[in-house]
Amino acid sequence: MRNRGGHAVVLGASMAGLLAARVLTEFYDRVTIVDRDELDDTAAPRHGVPQSRQPHVVLARCGQVVEELFPGVTDEMVGAGAHLWRSGDLGELYTRFSGHLVTRTGRLRDPEKLTLLHASRPFIESHVRRRVRALPAVTLVDRHDADALTWSADTVTGVRVTSRPEHRQYEIAADLVVDATGRGSRTPALLERMGFARPREDHLTVHVSYVSMPVRIPDGLLNEILFIDMPMAGRPYGWAMSRCENNDWQVLVGTLGIAPPAGEDEFYSYLRELMPAHAYAALLAGEPLADIALYKFPASRWRRYDKLTRMPCGLLVTGDAVASFNPIYGQGMTVAAVAAIALRECLRADGGELSRRFHRAAAKSIDIAWRTAVGSDLALPEVEGKRSLSMKMTTALLDRILLACETDPWMAQEFQMVTGMLAPPSRLVHPKVLRRVLAARGRQNLDADGVPATA
Ligand SMILES: Cc1cc2nc3c(=O)[nH]c(=O)nc-3n(C[C@H](O)[C@H](O)[C@H](O)COP(=O)(O)OP(=O)(O)OC[C@H]3O[C@@H](n4cnc5c(N)ncnc54)[C@H](O)[C@@H]3O)c2cc1C
Repeated sequence: MRNRGGHAVVLGASMAGLLAARVLTEFYDRVTIVDRDELDDTAAPRHGVPQSRQPHVVLARCGQVVEELFPGVTDEMVGAGAHLWRSGDLGELYTRFSGHLVTRTGRLRDPEKLTLLHASRPFIESHVRRRVRALPAVTLVDRHDADALTWSADTVTGVRVTSRPEHRQYEIAADLVVDATGRGSRTPALLERMGFARPREDHLTVHVSYVSMPVRIPDGLLNEILFIDMPMAGRPYGWAMSRCENNDWQVLVGTLGIAPPAGEDEFYSYLRELMPAHAYAALLAGEPLADIALYKFPASRWRRYDKLTRMPCGLLVTGDAVASFNPIYGQGMTVAAVAAIALRECLRADGGELSRRFHRAAAKSIDIAWRTAVGSDLALPEVEGKRSLSMKMTTALLDRILLACETDPWMAQEFQMVTGMLAPPSRLVHPKVLRRVLAARGRQNLDADGVPATA
């Protein structure tokens, strides 16, 4: 392991910043995290993370990385009321993609690989934050705005901050600054001010709206722990309901390119139309815990730091500050987690140009998430954008794969490995998978090895 010594400063103490900070403690003597919000040990939605009132799914790969960086944290969360799905019982999931309901009978082959952690976003962040705060090298400076970077020649030397309560401005010197301030990141403008080029931005306008509400549902009414029914062609809206800590639930209506439900009555009427009867009955038997909350997400956006030919030394950008995806696919925290692992690998390897190496390494997982999100969005005629021939072919193949998932638990696992970001999308074109896809089309039954039972 290569200890660089010195001081690293992370801007933003949300998921991307916390995970990056944890990795930096392996290489720097001191790690300071700066955030504008007041951060205590409570698990409450906060101003700096406006999406924190909305349901967040922790994909399997994200859960793995969080556990790797903070051993035992999953058990801690479960002890504090989170729910960990590890039964592999498909009856506990209700997942519908492009109108295909993934089979609800049978079990996954490797349930331990495909665990799903269920808790609210503030709950997860507060547990991770507590663990980061306990690290001896870490100082968390809350209620401070990061205003600007300081630099000399081509090297970032620190950050200028303003304390919120006293409006005191001062500089924090740093050997490395990591920007994890989310979608509103000022780094592109700061780069320009320093005489560097802004990163190119790829984007896809989606106009997604989330309207959600926390609800307490009496025990025993639902066997499921997660419902997801994605928007599909001709129906640009969907819903989700996910179990959170202490048996509370979050219920959501998501719209794409159309106005969201205007109030509670409309919210419930969407849900009455969309939910299976038993789930809607459970919702009605529940007790709403807060008013509905609205979040609008205009566009998926990827700032291409990986493509810049020149970046100042001592500056990295991670998390939503680099790429933010249509939230319907639940990838943001996983991409931030995988970027933290990429950061660790880049810091372990000797060699200069950390910024170039890191942004290129992180771009690999961003690219997978980006293609998944943008490809799925462009499968909907309601989303405007150019569709390449390969994209159209992928959409057609995906439809066949999902058709197979309707009846085949083996396929359901393959699909979840990919959507959980545990395996690359290429896994879905493995001959074994394609054999089952063809068989499903011909409505044949397969044995466990994918061989038609009639053969
Ligand atoms: C509606 C919605 C639903 C989502 N659902 C999922 C999901 O199901 N699963 C999933 O994995 N992801 C989901 N995401 C994405 C996920 O929320 C983010 O990817 C994740 O929070 C990581 O973001 P981040 O840490 O990069 O930035 P943010 O979470 O945006 O945090 C930025 C931090 O920087 C601080 N900050 C900002 N500017 C400054 C400044 N100038 N000075 C000091 N501090 C500053 C803020 O206070 C905040 O703490 C969803 C997103 C949205 C919008």
